[in-house]
Amino acid sequence: MKLANRALNISPSPTLAIDSVAKEMIAKGMSVVSFAAGEPDFDTPDHIKEAAVAAIRAGKTKYTPVAGTSQLREVICTKLKTDQGLDYTPDQIVVSAGAKHSLYNAMQVLVQPGDEVILPAPYWVSYLEQIKLAGAEARIVPAREENGFKLTPAELQAAISNRTRLLILNSPSNPTGAVYTADELGALAAVIEKYDFMVISDEIYEKFIYNGTKLVSIASLSPGLKERTVVINGVSKTYAMTGWRIGYAAAAKPVAKAMGALQGHSTSNPTSIAQDAALAAIGGDQAPVALMMAEYSRRRNFILERLNAIPGISCFKPGGSFYVFPSIKHYVGKSYKGRTISGATDLASVLLEEAQVAIVPGIAFGDDNYIRLSYVCSMEKIEDGLNRIAGLLKLIK
Ligand code: PLP
Repeated sequence: MKLANRALNISPSPTLAIDSVAKEMIAKGMSVVSFAAGEPDFDTPDHIKEAAVAAIRAGKTKYTPVAGTSQLREVICTKLKTDQGLDYTPDQIVVSAGAKHSLYNAMQVLVQPGDEVILPAPYWVSYLEQIKLAGAEARIVPAREENGFKLTPAELQAAISNRTRLLILNSPSNPTGAVYTADELGALAAVIEKYDFMVISDEIYEKFIYNGTKLVSIASLSPGLKERTVVINGVSKTYAMTGWRIGYAAAAKPVAKAMGALQGHSTSNPTSIAQDAALAAIGGDQAPVALMMAEYSRRRNFILERLNAIPGISCFKPGGSFYVFPSIKHYVGKSYKGRTISGATDLASVLLEEAQVAIVPGIAFGDDNYIRLSYVCSMEKIEDGLNRIAGLLKLIK
């Protein structure tokens, strides 16, 4: 059977693959601790579920406008104004089936064969595949741990060519948890304006920042930056709504219009019922978010302290998201019972097989000297998993 090159070039998501192996092991009755998922372990708050039930009962079961209901887009505009000081009108908002879908639409309308997209590493794996799906090339730029895993203006400038069309920023970051400050974004913004290219700012982990500050969106720095930026956000992480599939993009009118047109010929509107749930989430009571945030913060402190106490492990203190990204360099080149650990991928297999702990090797994000652990499981699980990791690492010589 002959498939299109486009299909042949896609790599399956390694994070989803590891998580599904862990879930299979659990289904077989094995006691697995999974740090692999990127999904909150909390349930969707009740008032959000009720809004969906009410939508079904009210017969809101038909097509909506392709880019989302006007009520939802208005509430998104209010949210962007309140939280980021950004002024958008509803015709600049496109609601899609998850932020992943919003990103896909954005990439499809912004870049094409011959274009280069600057992708700071470590990066969330779907960016790379979506760049390829748009026919463009990723220019991967390592953001160094010494710089808090953040791209410097000099590194950005050095990566620019006459084919550069787009930069992808993800703050707070998956996998490192890095959060850019207003000053750091300002320094990047100067380079972006000078060389005149677009930015995708993926702000999906916006609500999980641990030093009490609010996320600064690069779009809020100047009218020129706002014009060049596609802001991406959604309800999956903030409101524990991964299964509902609602994400959105805010962009300059021609970009939003093109994204809407693309969506109109692919998925049409995202689910009407999920849109009403998202309306209740974004426009309603934010107290559940604060509770989740407090719990993530507790887990983050615990996991950081415990990881850094393991000999040979050093873990960067993430400013946001719900991941930690410790370095395992110390163990690279050593061996476990005769098996060489040539990088995090080998370590991930040994941890899963021998200690029944699932983590994601850094190769999935562009650097196999690191592993990613998410703390979206209970404190008991975290403690159990870390004990197992510490026990196994002791046997690596
Ligand atoms: N962006 C980043 C950085 C993510 O980590 C994820 C989910 O893992 C998404 C986007 C996609 O989220 P959604 O569930 O809204 O598609």
